[in-house]
Amino acid sequence: MRAAVLEEHGEPLSIKDVDAPDPAPDGAVVEVEACGVCRSDWHGWQGDWEWLDLETQPGQILGHEPAGHVVAVGDEVEGVDEGDHVAIPFNLGDGACPRCQRGHSNICENVMPLGFIEQAQGAFAEQVHVPVADHNLVHLPDGVSSVDMAGLGCRFMTSFHALAHRADVSAGDWLSVHGCGGVGLSAVHIADALGANVVAVDLTDDKLELAKDLGAVETVNAADVDDVPGEIKSITNGGANVSMDALGIATTCQNSVFSLDAHGQHIQVGLTTQDEQGMVTLPTDAMVMQEIEFIGSLGMPPTRYDEIFRMVSTGKLEPEKVVSETIGLEDVSDKLESMTDYETVGIPVIDEF
Ligand SMILES: [Zn+2]
Ligand SMILES: [Zn+2]
Repeated sequence: MRAAVLEEHGEPLSIKDVDAPDPAPDGAVVEVEACGVCRSDWHGWQGDWEWLDLETQPGQILGHEPAGHVVAVGDEVEGVDEGDHVAIPFNLGDGACPRCQRGHSNICENVMPLGFIEQAQGAFAEQVHVPVADHNLVHLPDGVSSVDMAGLGCRFMTSFHALAHRADVSAGDWLSVHGCGGVGLSAVHIADALGANVVAVDLTDDKLELAKDLGAVETVNAADVDDVPGEIKSITNGGANVSMDALGIATTCQNSVFSLDAHGQHIQVGLTTQDEQGMVTLPTDAMVMQEIEFIGSLGMPPTRYDEIFRMVSTGKLEPEKVVSETIGLEDVSDKLESMTDYETVGIPVIDEF
């Protein structure tokens, strides 16, 4: 099968023929029809995240936002059949540990991040293997196409889980979103549907325009403003109730925390870069004095995808609005390259393999 294979960090992926996967006894093979290209792929391509033990190795196939049809299942699989239309969450669980048993396989004790480790080769390929298929595969309802689904995962799912499950965003709350890449734009759209007033922050007018189309009531171009938190405090008349760092650099993380009113909740969704290596300085005393919460949020457990599907089916959420373009497998390296300078707008999705 054709696949885009990492040979050297930061160098173009090599498009070549590799062996198609066979299903493990508990696994399934999915013919990939669509797969989003994400900043997490960019991190994998750069060789980041060795501080999380997730530094990619040569030979790795990236790609973690796939949807498609099942073409083969292992002998032990019970709830998945050939021909099923499915999505694959990016954080594959073992289905057996206490966290998976409680429905939190996004933070499985033996998590297998798709496209980052050898045992979970990714979906920039014609086919992808999914271990523990009964536990990990999500069946798609009618009306959600593979391209829609690739737009949903991982960024839309991640934002939904962060806003609807981890933080307490409710009607009339002010939410500031720092960074309007795929995850930030998804957050704007979801928070608008949940009834919040959203202030979107980015360095690029194009992305802020799209944020407005998706429901932001105010935007702040951080390139034009010296004091981003001050600007948000002024817009919100005191500070945001909830604020998200949707990028994962020290500046956006700190700006997000400083944007909050007392009792505010900061949600960290972006994982950091080589500059931070996971360490960001925060105003802990001020956070204590104002009872500010710091919340981490990762992906979304597959058990709760139904909530999004219900909102998609009634038109309250339109994930396709965040999909900016569809591309071919051979265009992936160019897309990754353009992410270095934050040039992509919205979510590019591969639909030709
Ligand atoms: Zn587990
Ligand atoms: Zn992603």
